[in-house]
Amino acid sequence: MHSNSEQIGLHLSDYPAMRPSALPVLDERLRGTRFVSLTPKSILNSPQQTGVDFWSLNPYVGCEFGCSYCYARYAHRYVVERARDAGKLSDSEFQDFRGPHGWEAFERRIFVKEGLLAALERDLQRYFRSARPPDGSPSPLGTAPLVIGTATDPYQPAERRFRLTRRVLERLARCEGLNVGLITKSPLVARDRDVLRRLQDANDLEVYVSLISVDAGLIRKIEARSPVPGVRLRALKRLTDAGVRAGLIVAPVLPGITDDVAHLEALFQAAREAGARFVHAGALRLYPAVRDRFLPLLREQFPGLEQRYRRAYARSLGAPRQYAAALRQRVQRLQQKYGFPVNEGMQDRYERRLPASQGELAL
Ligand code: SF4
Repeated sequence: MHSNSEQIGLHLSDYPAMRPSALPVLDERLRGTRFVSLTPKSILNSPQQTGVDFWSLNPYVGCEFGCSYCYARYAHRYVVERARDAGKLSDSEFQDFRGPHGWEAFERRIFVKEGLLAALERDLQRYFRSARPPDGSPSPLGTAPLVIGTATDPYQPAERRFRLTRRVLERLARCEGLNVGLITKSPLVARDRDVLRRLQDANDLEVYVSLISVDAGLIRKIEARSPVPGVRLRALKRLTDAGVRAGLIVAPVLPGITDDVAHLEALFQAAREAGARFVHAGALRLYPAVRDRFLPLLREQFPGLEQRYRRAYARSLGAPRQYAAALRQRVQRLQQKYGFPVNEGMQDRYERRLPASQGELAL
């Protein structure tokens, strides 16, 4: 994957060159979303491949939820462009797999990594070898977390039928001593609380239910087809009631839209009522692929903010230093108030670290 992806836990070596004949259509929705089969040689992205300090796994390429701030669209685009360049997609197929603006197909052409268990088996050997080098010396990667869902949602609607994520969890539940994280916006995760409990018995596990606002109307403006807040919070409760170590991840916090105290406090309150064990939060990072999709939406839905975002993010993909520091303090105060562990936030653990810019964006 290009330099961005190398720091967010997704690697393009996941995606083998495609042949139309090797991409059987597995399913199609009435609205035209198509699910095509992809057989990966590798499913686990190592820290050496991605440049971050965790391993990552994404059972699907593309995501039907279609959040406007999603940073993973470029990976889908890369797969499609590589196939076209290799002469494996005709011009019309390329247009179909890319979409008129280059971002739509991420939501409408979903690659399903069939056969991922064979790849996982091979990759686990690689993972354990890196954790325990032949000379027996301790490896700096020995405790590297393995995070599921860094680039696409592992419980997006396709999982109901294809059950790839469940199969991965079943396999990981036969391991011991892993440090596993899982990120999702979908209530479907509660379906797998049995296997998550088994996984947790012999491994460290944290399930992050992702939610940026309890305001369903606002969510629908920003996330095209994601589950409404209420069902995500109920899923979180079902997980915690079942004893699964689960909490809320509030990312991205959107400056001027979801970062006020009342907004954040409503999320913390809801998390506590759902039995969350933790709440993490982090500000928006405006990757190039996100700008293409998110800034036009901002212009349409929040016209006063577009120029402010352009200025604030002019010199950096990350939020301005002062803003990030103020947000972190605000989140830490709420973590304290609501009895959650106080920490540096999700982005310090599972996302890239960016040099902060000096720009200003009042909180
Ligand atoms: S759920 Fe996650 S992967 Fe899917 S579109 Fe939204 S941000 Fe992207």
